Amino acid sequence: MRTASVDEAIDRGADYSTMALIRASGESGADALDDSLPDPHTSPFLGDPAYLEDGYFRWGVRVDDLGLQQMKDLWADPAAAPTLTWWANVVTDGGHHGGGPRSAMARDSLRQADARLSVFLDHLEGLGVLDDVTVLLTADHGFEGSDPACTGSWKPALDALGLPYRDEGPGLVYLL
Ligand SMILES: [Zn+2]
Repeated sequence: MRTASVDEAIDRGADYSTMALIRASGESGADALDDSLPDPHTSPFLGDPAYLEDGYFRWGVRVDDLGLQQMKDLWADPAAAPTLTWWANVVTDGGHHGGGPRSAMARDSLRQADARLSVFLDHLEGLGVLDDVTVLLTADHGFEGSDPACTGSWKPALDALGLPYRDEGPGLVYLL
């Protein structure tokens, strides 16, 4: 089984990973491989260029643009594509830290992530494999208190998937 970890710090066991590329370069830190990252000003996903004045947001645009390219490269040939891929987007973190919850900057970052995912899904559709790929969308942390009115369970949604799974407790689900 071939596995890939794109823009995620945890990559043990991955056959392809961004972190492995960074380790192989001999560089370290958040500016590792900086010369390999694309120009954010020409990103087709950027909304307001003014947000590029925020260094974290600017870096996130560059990392996520290259991340999408990594995903398309990994899926250039469905027969050689990974069985399991983790793909992290980082500009959403930059947008929310930079502008705060529900800010225009945060929404710009979410629109970017949504558009990049759409491009990847279109890519899968173009290959004719969209129905063969399971996509799980999750977030690392929130930026505002959880809604106290939201007391439901995700069990109905998981049951509706029609996939065998094991729910190990809050936040940890195995798809079998
Ligand atoms: Zn954060």
